[in-house]
Amino acid sequence: MSEQFSVSRELFDEVMVPNYAPSAVIPVRGQGSRVWDQQDKEYIDFAGGIAVNCLGHCHPALVSALKEQGEKIWHLSNVMTNEPALRLAKKLVDSTFADKVYFANSGAESNEAALKLARRWALDVHGSDKTQIIAFNQGFHGRTFFTVTVGGQAAYSDGFGPKPGDIVHAEYNNLDSVKALISDKTCAIMIEPLQGEGGIVSPTDEFIKGVRELCNEHNALLIFDEVQTGVGRLGPLYAYMDLGVTPDILTSAKGLGGGIPIGAMLTTTDIAKHLKVGTHGSTYGGNPLACAIGEAVIDVINTPEVQTGVKAKAQLYVDRLNAINTKYKVFKEIRGKGLLIGAVLNDNYQGKAKDFLVAAMTEGVMTLVAGANIIRFAPSLVIPDEDIIEGLARFEKAVATLAS
Ligand SMILES: *Cc1c(COP(=O)(O)O)cnc(C)c1O
Repeated sequence: MSEQFSVSRELFDEVMVPNYAPSAVIPVRGQGSRVWDQQDKEYIDFAGGIAVNCLGHCHPALVSALKEQGEKIWHLSNVMTNEPALRLAKKLVDSTFADKVYFANSGAESNEAALKLARRWALDVHGSDKTQIIAFNQGFHGRTFFTVTVGGQAAYSDGFGPKPGDIVHAEYNNLDSVKALISDKTCAIMIEPLQGEGGIVSPTDEFIKGVRELCNEHNALLIFDEVQTGVGRLGPLYAYMDLGVTPDILTSAKGLGGGIPIGAMLTTTDIAKHLKVGTHGSTYGGNPLACAIGEAVIDVINTPEVQTGVKAKAQLYVDRLNAINTKYKVFKEIRGKGLLIGAVLNDNYQGKAKDFLVAAMTEGVMTLVAGANIIRFAPSLVIPDEDIIEGLARFEKAVATLAS
């Protein structure tokens, strides 16, 4: 018989490794863009599980895919292939530059695969000297040791002993800083086509095109980490589609599963061929359950209605946030693209983003931060306009409690 005990925030401190500091609120159910906690208090969700729940909570198409596949087959391993994985791969290939897909279970794992592929490609095609990886300060690529080292925050990668080598960092939106590092020994540049965790920073046209040209000049692969920007978050299915720049390798996760863990690495046939049988793998990667849900996500997101909806909803956010700012003068800038929006606190509120998040939670709206000075919004891509309006009205109350 199982012992009865209450599941409270205190239990977290008792039984969990202390690497997180979660909110006191424990949500127990969600529907669309609304979530309810243990006390049945209602919240409007502008956090989306960190840009994951791209169709909100319990979207009927995803629940139906989960139930249908859940009663068929969940897992096989890559000793066998399966129908949902092949269907999802076919849809990804048909709607992007890519010819081939590798499935993983998270963003970090997708990036790990991308980096290992780039290194193996360089070794096979150009020899053992071409190992340098260029990435960017403030970039974020996940928490495996390779990806966290490629990420541009020493605070996340220091303190774990010797790091994977030949990884250097340039400055985002500074092409000269890339020129100063790149050479024929550069194997790949890994970049987010809009820095998410690093502060909602869009690339300039000149910069992102310049990075592509530098890769071409030096036979280096361009890897777009679209873990946060992909699956309609910025409007198009993938952010590269609006930039006039095509990467050689693209990684996707977060929104791809709409809440079920899945990741994918997309590339061309010519590059993919270097991950021969046995060179890389994953027990769960491409499992039928996750892929069936991923396919349902793509079916909904890859439509003109949803993609134009993102642009209209983004405009509604920006207009309302500007209106709040006209009253309270708390933001220096509202930036981002599509439904990945950053409200940058002005100089009077430096370091206070978390205070706004906590105050918003009290008023019944879930938000995110991106660093200490930016409040981040990453809601469902199909959030009803009335939920945006009501959620921002609640957010305005939170702002009012903090504005001086
Ligand atoms: C969240 C994120 C990752 C890491 O994804 P996980 O699923 O947590 O491993 C990698 N890159 C970017 C750009 C992200 O936003």
